Amino acid sequence: MGRHFDLIVIGAGSGGVRAGRLASSYGAKVAVVEEYRLGGTCVIRGCVPKKLFVYASRFPEQFEVSKNFGWSMEEPTFDWQTLRDNKDKEIQRLEGIYGNILDNAGVTVFRDRAELTSGTSVKLQKDGEELTADRILIATGGTPFVPNIPGAELGITSNEAFHLDELPEKILIVGGGYIAVEFAGIFAGLGVKTTLAYRGPQILRGFDEDVRDMVAEQMQARGIEILTNTDLSALEKSDNGINVTFDNDQSAEFGEVMFATGRSPNTKGLGLEYTDIEVGAREEIIVDEQSRTSCKTVFAVGDVTDRAALTPVAIREGAAFAETFYNDNPTFVHHDLIPTAVFSEPEIGTIGMTETQAGNRYHKVNVYKATFRPMMNTLGDKAEKEMYKLITDADTDKVLGVHVVGHAAGEIIQMAGIAVTMGATKADFDRTIAVHPTAAEELVTMKQPSYVLEYGKKVE
Ligand SMILES: Cc1cc2nc3c(=O)[nH]c(=O)nc-3n(C[C@H](O)[C@H](O)[C@H](O)COP(=O)(O)OP(=O)(O)OC[C@H]3O[C@@H](n4cnc5c(N)ncnc54)[C@H](O)[C@@H]3O)c2cc1C
Repeated sequence: MGRHFDLIVIGAGSGGVRAGRLASSYGAKVAVVEEYRLGGTCVIRGCVPKKLFVYASRFPEQFEVSKNFGWSMEEPTFDWQTLRDNKDKEIQRLEGIYGNILDNAGVTVFRDRAELTSGTSVKLQKDGEELTADRILIATGGTPFVPNIPGAELGITSNEAFHLDELPEKILIVGGGYIAVEFAGIFAGLGVKTTLAYRGPQILRGFDEDVRDMVAEQMQARGIEILTNTDLSALEKSDNGINVTFDNDQSAEFGEVMFATGRSPNTKGLGLEYTDIEVGAREEIIVDEQSRTSCKTVFAVGDVTDRAALTPVAIREGAAFAETFYNDNPTFVHHDLIPTAVFSEPEIGTIGMTETQAGNRYHKVNVYKATFRPMMNTLGDKAEKEMYKLITDADTDKVLGVHVVGHAAGEIIQMAGIAVTMGATKADFDRTIAVHPTAAEELVTMKQPSYVLEYGKKVE
């Protein structure tokens, strides 16, 4: 047997780093084991590099619009390698910061793969040492899921999209979730002819219907081809790239095919069979509201539990675990009201219920909707509109959902999220003085409902 710790954390991502650092600061002897890079998905191949790419992809529109504001410049050119390499440097810097955070907190970091050998021990796969602990926290995140179709190995996932040698002329993105939609915006913005194929009837399942329709429409207006109700049957190598056959027997050639077809919890080969940890249908680790698994010494947080696969949620779960078990401060994470953004073009910010969810749950619902051309687009001579939508319970006046499509929607929803989390009513929104001239002032200036739902049905 090797060294003993109070806590072993498997995975130095969003949840694992926060839990390990906090537990250590409360006096626990903590080990964190990471098989790839410190920082996890968000920092290394998720939120952060993606947002940097999103910034890059938005410049061409600014160049274009600036002309009507009096600017002129030579035809701008774009160099993918510069963006990719600068992004890599920034990720390396952030990874260093994560290393320092853990070191300064007194955490022992093992750069290895950990596999459970029991509910209180893990084996380091390269080193061979078997560490033991009073508690183990699984924070191994998720991994891209690629459908099992012939030739799927020719495609890439978001992991590889961050490291392409060069941009293709044409890309096919498979999937309709937020990662698919965001990458469609990135590639299209960087000048790649982009097609998105999704097997469902509309992209962004789970989002408000108006949001889904508006974003799909505007993505198409920006030149992204969206093929809905379309699946892939096979991929084959062709002279100039990859030949894709769709399930309607049509085929087309692309330089790259990117699968953004969901993510699976990272439980494969983790040694769960040596414990009595229960997993669900997607192989996610089943936990209670304080992240306990069915094995009393093992806990799990973040994407591996498939509760809400978002960084701030994993961080909260990691912090709540440390507070509860190492600071004698029982802490719960509520997963019902999570503000979130999609960094698509146009951007989405959302919190709370969609119109359909509210209609199904409440007897009478007021829907306030403002769709308008933002000031920037009037002089910029762009047709694109933005949308602000508020959904309230007509009986209590409580705001049930806020949905924004447009510039800085992610920033705006963070603030609106505070009000909704506090249980704000429409009257609270109304008595807030508008900030003028902004788009977000719509949140406090929509006086009359656009329509009312009774028992889920629109009434005039
Ligand atoms: C392309 C993309 C974009 C995203 N954008 C956003 C966004 O804009 N906003 C947002 O909130 N979220 C975003 N996410 C989701 C976010 O990245 C995750 O929700 C978050 O990283 C989950 O944190 P975690 O701690 O559960 O796991 P992770 O951050 O995935 O960390 C898990 C770590 O465990 C390590 N590991 C796995 N198995 C082992 C093992 N056996 N031994 C040792 N180490 C192991 C992995 O290498 C990894 O470093 C994005 C994800 C992707 C893929």
